[in-house]
Amino acid sequence: MATNTGKRVALVTGGGSGIGRATAVRFAELGYSCVVADIDESSAKETLRMLQTPGIAVQVDVTKATSVEAMVTAAVQHFGRIDCAFNGAGIAERATATIADTTEDEFDRVMGVNTKGVWLCLKYEIAQMLQQEPVMSDPAKWADKPDVCRFRGVRGSIVNASSIAAHYPTPMHAPYGASKWAVLGLTKTAAVEYAKEGIRVNAVSPGFVDTPMHHRNMEKLSPGEKEKTESWHPVGRIGAPEEVAEAVCWLCSDACPFTTGEHLKIAGGS
Ligand code: NAP
Repeated sequence: MATNTGKRVALVTGGGSGIGRATAVRFAELGYSCVVADIDESSAKETLRMLQTPGIAVQVDVTKATSVEAMVTAAVQHFGRIDCAFNGAGIAERATATIADTTEDEFDRVMGVNTKGVWLCLKYEIAQMLQQEPVMSDPAKWADKPDVCRFRGVRGSIVNASSIAAHYPTPMHAPYGASKWAVLGLTKTAAVEYAKEGIRVNAVSPGFVDTPMHHRNMEKLSPGEKEKTESWHPVGRIGAPEEVAEAVCWLCSDACPFTTGEHLKIAGGS
């Protein structure tokens, strides 16, 4: 039975850690009800405890259609709709192998989570959003501009996690780079397919961000390589997950109704 909280509803995959956790926290600060989904249910529940807003924790494996469909069903059963989604679940795996040294299994795992996972989330999130009544925010403001999409209402807004790795070659990390280039392709295609339905789809491309994934990657590098990596951005530092979260929430918000099919780099000038 759906709980009508009167709040907008945000779904976050990868919500148990790093950028996903920071995004769920920011959505909650902005007043959204939150669906925190992660392969690790206990970490999703831990995030939930940080939120000062209604929410549920859901176990999901984004590589499995049945699991993603069940996540969307759980969100709708609980809150009645999904206004925003951040598809943040991702893995990096080995960052130290040339193409010739990468195994088929490694390639399939990374593409499975980072690319197929985003595609499955888009598939089920969009199917749900298409059934929703468009929400008109502040219709009086747009009353004399009937062509503005905000006036027509928005069914939903989705942001996918790509990476700065989708903007440069990624030597020693080909599957990850390829998976994130593919996310941009999915984002731009979905944006065009559903633009007239009032569903916006954008992507963020973070640079190096201070998360458990980043720390796992750095452990594989020599001290010299680590230092070079962490000072690579022109601003001279890595990012904070909260800095990515802010951009995700802005892209999802009513502040940018004319922005779709876009990718926003959050990478300190890189
Ligand atoms: P993170 O701290 O490792 O968080 C990713 C979360 O996704 C983890 O909780 C992880 O669970 C979960 N996950 C992994 N496989 C999953 C699956 N099959 N189904 C559902 N959840 C799954 O990583 P992050 O740094 O916050 O990264 C978030 C996103 O931003 C990723 O897509 C990443 O590629 C992208 N990104 C990160 C950086 C960076 O520097 N941190 C830069 C550019 C882009 P487990 O921990 O249990 O695996």
